[in-house]
Amino acid sequence: MKIAILSRNENLYSTRRLKEAILARGHEVDIIDTLHCYMDITSSRPAVRFHGEELPKYDAIIPRIGASVTFYGTAVARQFEMMGTFNINESVAISRSRDKLRSLQLLSRKGIGLPRTGFASKPDNIKDLIKNVGGAPLVIKLLEGTQGIGVVLADTAKAAESIIEAFMGLKANILVQEYIKEAGGADIRCLVVGGRVVAAMKRQGAEGEFRSNLHRGGSAEIVKLTKEERATAVNAAKAMGLNFCGVDLLRSHNGPMVMEVNSSPGLEGIEKATGLDVAGKVIEFIEKNARFNATKTKGRG
Ligand code: ADP
Ligand code: MG
Repeated sequence: MKIAILSRNENLYSTRRLKEAILARGHEVDIIDTLHCYMDITSSRPAVRFHGEELPKYDAIIPRIGASVTFYGTAVARQFEMMGTFNINESVAISRSRDKLRSLQLLSRKGIGLPRTGFASKPDNIKDLIKNVGGAPLVIKLLEGTQGIGVVLADTAKAAESIIEAFMGLKANILVQEYIKEAGGADIRCLVVGGRVVAAMKRQGAEGEFRSNLHRGGSAEIVKLTKEERATAVNAAKAMGLNFCGVDLLRSHNGPMVMEVNSSPGLEGIEKATGLDVAGKVIEFIEKNARFNATKTKGRG
């Protein structure tokens, strides 16, 4: 097969590992810098161009689209979908996953465990918003934050009110969430490929830090999932429509709760913590499932 990885940087660990796995399994690979692609949106003959030439027909693409280039990156992925190329994570599903509120709304419809979450745009109902998620301490999040930036823990209702007012004053979209204290500054990252959890790790925040992000100094170790955690991760990936994603869970007194679903999950932390060949599983999935014109959301924006 001929597979393209959409990535801004071929030296990133995840990009390198996917490339290795593609070659190891006897396929061809191109790494394409997403922002250097441009699109020919001609009637009936869509194409993607790159450095003055039309790109060849690929059997599959693996989009690795950073949060800062979501708009352009999903447009390029969509263009490949219009050409009938198999995309492991459809552009619509990537867009869904980038908005924490939209993701939680989709997950809640499917009855998947979530921290209680509120959302409002006007300051006149802040007190009730806080009360509704169980009062302080509570977590306030920017809708499109990543790597732990834009996630704040407010210890008291007064602090929460001021922070919410400040964010709203800046016209930032935020959600307010019940704080799962018993998670103890840790979360579980489940790597889901093709409806199966292929690897999982526990991330523990640095001393005195409630955010477990590795970018915030957290550390990772292998973890054994319960049946319920496994099912929750698989259901969350399915509800989002993602074939290759990272599902982050909090261990709460009320069972596993999904915090977010990441459509470009990093491979370095999880492969190093577990010693598993996650990249190989991704390519194996593509081998079994890549078909021409298989995009489910085609024509549905
Ligand atoms: P980001 O997209 O920036 O990673 P997250 O929603 O994943 O934002 O939050 C970052 C980290 O903060 C999580 O990995 C988790 O450790 C902690 N966290 C987030 N929400 C909660 C919550 N409701 N209760 C307890 N801890 C939380
Ligand atoms: Mg996170």
